[in-house]
Amino acid sequence: MSFASLGLSPALLRAVREQGYHAPTAIQAAALPAVLSGADVLAIAQTGSGKTAAFALPLLQRLVASPPGRGQVIGTGHRPGPRALVLAPTRELAAQTAELLRDVAALLMHRPRVALAFGGVSINPQLMALRGGCDVMVATPGRLLDLLDHNGLTLAGVEMLVLDEADRLLNPGFADELQRVLSLLPRQRQSLLFSATLPPAVQQLADALLHDPVRIEIEEAPPQITQRAIQLDRAQRLPALRALLAGQGWARALVFVASRYTAELVAEKLAAHGFKAGVLHGELSQGARRDVLAALKEGSVKVLVATDVAARGLHVEALEAVINYELPRSAADYTHRIGRTGRAGAQGVAISFICTDSAENAESHFRLIEKRQGQRVPREQLPGFAPQVVATEAQATGGIKSTTRKSKKDKLREAAARGHASGAATNGH
Ligand code: AMP
Repeated sequence: MSFASLGLSPALLRAVREQGYHAPTAIQAAALPAVLSGADVLAIAQTGSGKTAAFALPLLQRLVASPPGRGQVIGTGHRPGPRALVLAPTRELAAQTAELLRDVAALLMHRPRVALAFGGVSINPQLMALRGGCDVMVATPGRLLDLLDHNGLTLAGVEMLVLDEADRLLNPGFADELQRVLSLLPRQRQSLLFSATLPPAVQQLADALLHDPVRIEIEEAPPQITQRAIQLDRAQRLPALRALLAGQGWARALVFVASRYTAELVAEKLAAHGFKAGVLHGELSQGARRDVLAALKEGSVKVLVATDVAARGLHVEALEAVINYELPRSAADYTHRIGRTGRAGAQGVAISFICTDSAENAESHFRLIEKRQGQRVPREQLPGFAPQVVATEAQATGGIKSTTRKSKKDKLREAAARGHASGAATNGH
């Protein structure tokens, strides 16, 4: 299967090459011809399946191929556009979708203008950016409503609507905003609904919104993620992390911690040992988040230390490793975290540190995570970082307590090996 056989124009084929895509993913193969034909689409596909390009490419192709319709005439005080509206649940997702649309639009003859808007930042620059109008608007619903209240744009000319991650757009607190936006759209339009899951609420939305849709369901790709669980002492986490980073040669790694404080501390300590480390947490400004993601993309940051803020909606190409320096609170967070690697067919590794001496009983917490995801991850120890005390199965499950204590000789041997391994970790970085 090639992109050329799916009906993309030469300009779009060039865009695909520049993105580095060789062959369409399953969702792209199914959605591209359907969207190009003008049909409504209901697609059940996960993040990581290539769904963004599955709507972004044909959307732009249709826009440049057809002359603007009604609502595009400047007059009566209305600003032109947008002709296409993409709604996304989070600012990260909106920003990354807009980025792809802009990259591709830059290669097209008429250079469609792509506007981006999300909440949590000042509205004024977004209003200013809309002054000249736009062809494609990517927005979170709440901020879009604010912009409409400020007469920043009109939705009267929307010919194409995309709801991305519709299941999350329908989360409590968002659903009303979504309905308000939908009520402002012209009835005649092409609508595309993408969702990771199809609960009744999404099905109802699809029934109300879509006209005779092409239904696409992509089986979740078998995860290409190798999971590892490493037992170690709390105090050994930093040197063990350094040894892993130095030894494995990953181009990009994401290290998850539980708090902003730990994120900054770990990144600082890594930087002090010569690693190109950055931080991402919820208290960073949008600009700072964008900068660190851009640095990770172009390689000036190779290790990103992040809180769970980064686990959702983050798209980073070829992230080879996710390391749970601290375990996530829930099994759902674990799935989101490790899903940042092994995307679109690439291989990835997800490593969890299990502190055998933690007050929170990391072993039994990790067992719960394993149980929820229905998969056991073999425990292992890193040479030179073996823990002092290892919880046995019985202890972790709350049965008879027993621990394996090491002899003094073993401890000395390990201390020597550890010194060697952490020394090696600092070389060459
Ligand atoms: P998405 O599901 O849209 O979040 O895409 C997940 C990742 O897959 C992104 O990093 C894309 O750049 C990448 N991707 C999308 N389509 C392709 C393709 N046809 N070949 C290779 N990578 C792709």
